[in-house]
Amino acid sequence: MAQLSDDCFAFNGPLMSVDDAVAIIAARVASVVETENVGLLHADGRILAADIVAPLSLPPFTNSAVDGYAVRGADLSSADLLLPVSGRVQAGAASMQPLAARHAMRIFTGAPMPEGADTVFMQEDVQLDDAGNVLLPPGLKAGANVRPAGEDVARGMAALRAGSRLRPQDVALVAAFGLTEVQVRRRIRVAVFSTGNELVSPGTSRGTAQQFDSNRFMLMALLSRLGCDVADLGIITDDRVLLAAALKDAAGTHDLILTSGGVSTGEEDHVKAAVESVGSLVLWRMAIKPGRPVAMGIIDGTPVIGLPGNPVASFVTFAHVVRPTVFALAGASPQTLLPMPLRAAFNYRKKIDRREYVRVSLRTGNDGVLEAVKFPREGAGMLSSLIETDGLVELREQVTDVSPGDVVGFLSYASLG
Ligand code: AMP
Ligand code: MG
Repeated sequence: MAQLSDDCFAFNGPLMSVDDAVAIIAARVASVVETENVGLLHADGRILAADIVAPLSLPPFTNSAVDGYAVRGADLSSADLLLPVSGRVQAGAASMQPLAARHAMRIFTGAPMPEGADTVFMQEDVQLDDAGNVLLPPGLKAGANVRPAGEDVARGMAALRAGSRLRPQDVALVAAFGLTEVQVRRRIRVAVFSTGNELVSPGTSRGTAQQFDSNRFMLMALLSRLGCDVADLGIITDDRVLLAAALKDAAGTHDLILTSGGVSTGEEDHVKAAVESVGSLVLWRMAIKPGRPVAMGIIDGTPVIGLPGNPVASFVTFAHVVRPTVFALAGASPQTLLPMPLRAAFNYRKKIDRREYVRVSLRTGNDGVLEAVKFPREGAGMLSSLIETDGLVELREQVTDVSPGDVVGFLSYASLG
């Protein structure tokens, strides 16, 4: 079972910075150790458990990069060259004749270079005569249009590192090595529940003062995208004892527990107290907007994260607290979020010492430069603000205001997955 060490934690000061929170997570969370082998069809998104050392070079043999005519570089001249065409070598050809001096051989993309040949003329650049000779123009360098064995990957090199989160192109590399399976960490098991007396599940009847639980489905979808096995534990009412029991119960059978709602300081916010009653708190309240109240703790070695209830706050804090925790638990190398610089097309004032995320849409300005337009309304409860925008502008702690034309860092929603 994944463990979060619960030796004394430093929680001093009222608000923890995002970077401190991420560092604490990285230091405290230990990854699952169990591995499994999966076929290539199921490898995308999985976390590689061991380095993959190239069992063969790529390309495995020297071959032509184009359809054309293979020649010896030594035969090239500074004038037009007329050579007899002898032989033909196709992709996949099992055996072939060596290329005689002052001869050309018809060759196709991916076909092995015949012995003696080291240069290929593209078929578009040559002319054939009726006698079966090819007229080659001057100017081609010896070695042109050939892909030497091993130019892509050298046999024996660590081609993929343990901790990589496999992407389609990584799967392609594994396949190119002729491997049929990869050894990956097992998926982490994450329990998700919502808290709040006002919440009912979609598909059940809603009282007049109730609303449907949306966070749980957003959080489960986000977790699934990160490769987690998700357990839906439903809704728990605002009751500290019930919450504590649910947390304690889930801790025994999951690697991570995720809740939303009930982490503020109101009298009906019981998550923090519930965590403290059955485990210990690692962090609570971060210098981040939206999303300040975030609780992270440990119950029987299992991390628990309580996100704020407002959907936008839940979404933003998921990206900065849950995402790194999931990767640490899953055995992935840190997946740092790198905001892309782009131009702000909005005014914004913010508090110093607090990280803020602004929901923005992208558009191309009159001068053709990409710019970020702020969603017109601020509320952290508005799902429409996440739906009608493309991502978040990250305003770091020291920034106090943004004016149109300033360069800001942008995180697309796609980059958060
Ligand atoms: P809380 O953090 O419990 O004070 O909740 C803050 C706001 O978020 C309240 O308006 C809640 O109704 C709303 N909220 C809490 N949990 C959810 C949820 N699971 N889905 C949608 N809205 C929620
Ligand atoms: Mg609540």
